[in-house]
Amino acid sequence: MEVKTQENKNLNFLEEIIESDLASGKVESITTRFPPEPNGYLHLGHAKSICLNFGLAKEYGGKTNLRFDDTNPSKEDTEYVDSIKEDITWLGFKWDKEKYASDYFDQLYEWAEDLIGKGLAYVDDQTHEEISKNRGTVETPGTPSPYRERNIEENLKIFREMKDGKYADGEKVLRAKIDMSSPNMLLRDPILYRIKHASHHRTGDKWCIYPMYDFTHGQCDSIEHITHSICTLEFDVHRPLYDWFIKTLGIWPSHQYEFARLNLTYTLMSKRRLLELVQKKYVNGWDDPRMPTLCGVRRKGYTPEAIKMFCEKIGVSKHEQLMDIQLLEWCVRQDLNERANRYMCVQKPLKVTITNWEKGKTEWYDCPLNPAEPDGKSRKVPFTGNILIEQEDFMEEPPKKFFRLKPDGEVRLKYTYIIKCNEIIRDTDGNITELRCTYDPSTKPGSGEWRSVKGTIHWVSAEYAKEVELRLYDRLFTEADMGSIPEDKDYKEYLNPDSLIVEKGYAEPALLDDKSGIAVQFERKGYFFRDPDSTVDNVVFNKTTALKDSYKVK
Ligand code: ATP
Ligand code: MG
Repeated sequence: MEVKTQENKNLNFLEEIIESDLASGKVESITTRFPPEPNGYLHLGHAKSICLNFGLAKEYGGKTNLRFDDTNPSKEDTEYVDSIKEDITWLGFKWDKEKYASDYFDQLYEWAEDLIGKGLAYVDDQTHEEISKNRGTVETPGTPSPYRERNIEENLKIFREMKDGKYADGEKVLRAKIDMSSPNMLLRDPILYRIKHASHHRTGDKWCIYPMYDFTHGQCDSIEHITHSICTLEFDVHRPLYDWFIKTLGIWPSHQYEFARLNLTYTLMSKRRLLELVQKKYVNGWDDPRMPTLCGVRRKGYTPEAIKMFCEKIGVSKHEQLMDIQLLEWCVRQDLNERANRYMCVQKPLKVTITNWEKGKTEWYDCPLNPAEPDGKSRKVPFTGNILIEQEDFMEEPPKKFFRLKPDGEVRLKYTYIIKCNEIIRDTDGNITELRCTYDPSTKPGSGEWRSVKGTIHWVSAEYAKEVELRLYDRLFTEADMGSIPEDKDYKEYLNPDSLIVEKGYAEPALLDDKSGIAVQFERKGYFFRDPDSTVDNVVFNKTTALKDSYKVK
C-alpha cells in the first residue's frame, strides 16, 4: 500500500455529489447519519467518519443523526452507547436525532412480512453451512434451497412462529428471494432474519429474531430520510441490495455512497481486535493511551482540534491508503504548540551544586506560560543553590558541536544565570553523581549587559522539585502496515514490548497547579497530559508526543 500523507483540498467527491444534488433540486437539504454498532469504543477511523458526516451536514446547513446499529444483541451494551455519545460530544459535534435500529424493529418486521406476501422472501430450514455452501462461488451459480418454493401462507406461518420463539437458534432463517446466480453474491438470496434467543440492551426479551445488517441499514436510512448515507468502501458491493430493498418495498429513496476507510501506520483499527487486546489485558483497558480509541488518545493528551485538523488534511477519497501516523502527531504538536502551557521537568536528573550561591537563598522568576504570548499568564519558577539538570545535558568528553555543559564550559540555565562547570564528583564506581558549578551574577536576565553562550538547558530547583510519574508511550505495534499481516499470522506477535516505560520526573512546582485541562509542554522534552489516575501523592503524566521529529508536512 502506498503511504500518503495528504491530499489536495478542492471539492471532494462527496461535496461534488451534494452540491449537484442541491443544485438540481434532487434534495432540498441534506441529512447524514453516523451509524456505530455499540459493540466497542470508537477509534480514530470512526473519527474520520464522524468528521465527514457531521462536517458535510454543517458545511451545507443540514443535519446529522446518531443512529446505533444495534441488531446483534449478544455483542452490544449500553456501556458502549454511553462511551460513543461521550466521544462524539468530546469531538465537538452535536447530533440531531438519537436513534437506534431497534427503534424500527416493528417496522422492519412488517416489511419482512410484506416481502413474504409479495412472494419475495421465504423461510429456509437449511443449516448455515448448507446455506453458504449452496450459495456457490463467484464462478459457479448457487443452488436454490429446497425450501425456496414454499408457499406464502406457510412462509408467513413459520416466520410468525420464529418470532414467537418456537424454534431454536439457527434452526431457520428468513431469506429474500432474489437471484441465486447473480454475479453479486450478496444478491443470492440474502438472509433477512436470524433466530437469536438473546436479551437486547434496549428491547430486552421482546424479540428472539433479529434483522441482518443489510435488511436494516438502508431501511433505517429511508425512515429517517437520510439523503446521503456514507459508509466505507467495502460496502460498495452491498449497494445493489440496499437499493433493491428500497425499490421493492417502495419506500423513501435514501442513497449510499462509499469512501475509503482510514488506515494508519503502526495502528490496528478493528474493534474485534481492540476488544481482544482489552480482554486479554495486553493493554490497560479501552482508554489505555496506547490504544487508537478516542478515549485512549484523549487520555494521551490528543485534542479534538488536532484530530479534526488531521481529518481535514487527509481528506476523503475512493482509494484505500495507509496514512502516516506522524501526520496525526504533527497535527497534535501544531495545536499544542499554540496552546500548551510550558513547564520544566527533568527526566534523568544530575545534581548540580552552585558553590557561590548564598546558602538557603531562593530567587523567583516570572516565566511565561506560553512564549507565544510573552505578556500573557506566567508561572513562578524558583532558583536555588541545588538544581537538577538532565544527565544528557552534560558530557565529560563532548564532541565538537556539543553546546551544553562540559568541564570548564558554560551554559545558560533557561530563564536565569549562566553557570560554569568546575568540578565533577563521582561515586566509588566512578559514576558521575554531582557537578560543582559557579554562577555568574552579571548574567541575570534583564540586568546589565546580556552575555550569551551557545547552549541553554532546562533545570529544576532540587529544593522545590516535585516528583511525578511519567508514563512514556511508544507505538503499540512494531509493524507499520498492520493491514498487511496475513490472516494466519498472529498480529499480537507485532506488539512492541517497550510501548510503555514508566519513569520518575522532577518538575517545577507550578506544574501541579496547572488548570489548563490540556496537555502541557515540558520544555525541550515533549508534551505531557495529566492522567486521571493521578492522586495527591502520585501525580502521573502521560507522554502525548515528542516536541518534534523529522517529519515534514508537504
Ligand atoms: P470496526 O471494523 O472497527 O469494527 P465497524 O465498521 O464495524 O468498525 P461501526 O461501528 O459499524 O464499526 O462503524 C460506524 C461507522 O464508522 C461506519 O459507517 C463505518 O463505515 C465507519 N468506520 C469504521 N471504521 C472506519 C475507518 N477505519 N475509517 C473510516 N470510517 C470507519
Ligand atoms: Mg460495522
